[in-house]
Amino acid sequence: MSKPPSFRFVNYVPPRRTVAEYSEAEKKLFKKQFQPAAESYRKGSRFFLIGFVSLFVLFLFFFVLGENQVISQKDAQLIGPWFVALLAILIFTALILAIKHDPICPACNNVVDRVLKAFCPECGASNLLSKTRCSSCGKRLSGGKGRQYTIRFCTHCGVLLDDKGI
Ligand SMILES: [Zn+2]
Ligand SMILES: [Zn+2]
Repeated sequence: MSKPPSFRFVNYVPPRRTVAEYSEAEKKLFKKQFQPAAESYRKGSRFFLIGFVSLFVLFLFFFVLGENQVISQKDAQLIGPWFVALLAILIFTALILAIKHDPICPACNNVVDRVLKAFCPECGASNLLSKTRCSSCGKRLSGGKGRQYTIRFCTHCGVLLDDKGI
């Protein structure tokens, strides 16, 4: 077996076993194994938020200064490229983080934040028929990075990954 590369593009493999087929000890272990991924995922999202908010505030600040002629147009032109550079760095870091920290289920080895499969990521109910709303917990399940739900259960195999959710 070769070492897995650090940049993983994981192909979907249907789970061989689902939550009911694992023992309590196994499920406990999966949860423990998922913790580092959950932590870095949470850190990553916080980084995005802080980064974008601070950039926005900075931008607003200089815009107000410029509007009130506190800084000259020449100064404003000097500052402009720095904003672009900062934004580029932020987006680049965000991309690296997004690729590196794909949260992967330790039980079935699938990425848990891209698609919705059989299990509800919020409550773990099986037979998730609608991809927009869970019939058990009523949670709206809109997809993508801007999703409105937290992932507590693996959508592929139904194993509980994190109590707080990511
Ligand atoms: Zn649900
Ligand atoms: Zn899984």
